Amino acid sequence: MKEQDYIDILEILNKAENTELLYQEVFKVIIKVFNANRVQLWNKVIDINEMSVSHEYCNSNELSMIKYRVPVLPEKAKISHNKTTIWEYTNIKDDILNKFNINSLVGIELAHNDREIGTLVITYKDKNRKHNTDELNYLQKIKVILEYGITKTQKAEDSTEIISKLEKQNNKLREQDRLRTNFINNISHELRTPLSSIMGFSKMLITKDKQSLNNKEKEIVDQILLASNRLSSLITDFLEINKIDTEGWLAQIESCDIGEIIKQTVDEFSSLNKKYKITYLCTDDYPIIKTDPRLVKQILDNLISNSIKYSPHGGKTTVILDVQKDKKELKISVLDEGLGIEKGEISKIFSRFYRSRRSEVQSIAGSGLGLAICKEIIATLGGGVEVESTVNKGSKFSFTLPVN
Ligand code: ADP
Repeated sequence: MKEQDYIDILEILNKAENTELLYQEVFKVIIKVFNANRVQLWNKVIDINEMSVSHEYCNSNELSMIKYRVPVLPEKAKISHNKTTIWEYTNIKDDILNKFNINSLVGIELAHNDREIGTLVITYKDKNRKHNTDELNYLQKIKVILEYGITKTQKAEDSTEIISKLEKQNNKLREQDRLRTNFINNISHELRTPLSSIMGFSKMLITKDKQSLNNKEKEIVDQILLASNRLSSLITDFLEINKIDTEGWLAQIESCDIGEIIKQTVDEFSSLNKKYKITYLCTDDYPIIKTDPRLVKQILDNLISNSIKYSPHGGKTTVILDVQKDKKELKISVLDEGLGIEKGEISKIFSRFYRSRRSEVQSIAGSGLGLAICKEIIATLGGGVEVESTVNKGSKFSFTLPVN
């Protein structure tokens, strides 16, 4: 055996990316080294005393034997070489094998980690091909190299298979997500039109025909308006969260007077919610910052409306503006004296669709999306959010905005 014959095989082993390629390249070297007509891998066929050719490399004048059934190698052909069992089978009398120009062969079993890989078989037209020690040593070395190589390439194939499975799953999830987004968008837009009519006509009834309605009828129209308002804000939340998923938030940065935004928002809420006391406390020395005023207002709208919504027995809402951390951050807090939040729920309330399990909260309408939207906007603006709360005493939602 020439040294080059070993080097060739080791090089193949290093390069082989998959098992099929490994067999082809190694078999090509073996056929040359042994001057054989075929190199094959035989596998057991379950429950039948036959084997099947699963891999093959043969001379160009030979017909392929892939998937052909061949007899199991006979006990009488077994020889022991350096404690390894080898079959040296000469003068073969078997119709199938003879038909394919196989008149003698040498075989060695391949296995790895107690798992059978198959029998490597080198075949010859010559009826009485015998092997010298050098050839048998080489065969033994090939066995070790192939066993190692097959394990290596199979591991790589397994991980490629896992990656491709994950990619398929990922694509499926993406498609489902796209369908869900489309569905929510379509349904929300479809609901908006009839809802606008309901709200428009109820408002008309209450303003124009106020005189002609009796008290019971006025109460009913009020209820219709209240329910439609809730439905309208649910639809707005659905559309908003869908927009984040498809487009993300596009902040339009400009110089903002946060104190002024707080004042305006508090005034708007106060005039619409006469039953609640809503005030603000702004430090004098806050700086003008660069941020998106529309998004800041959206956060405030959400937090103040929650403070009112979750204070069914009334109470005060206070919005506080502070300068924090060496004047590097503005901190805006919305405090209420409402239902409060249980400790175990604080980490969950910013998740999409999460609503408290408490019966007092369940009776209040909501989508569980408001705080999730707030959290995403705050992150877009480069800030953070935190909550402190005591059940039945009240809550404090604070968010920060960077001073730039
Ligand atoms: P929604 O109000 O539509 O349910 P949110 O995302 O705004 O959705 O709020 C999620 C949950 O957080 C609410 O269901 C409620 O349990 C709790 N929560 C939010 N704000 C307050 C608050 N100010 N006081 C008490 N609980 C609150």
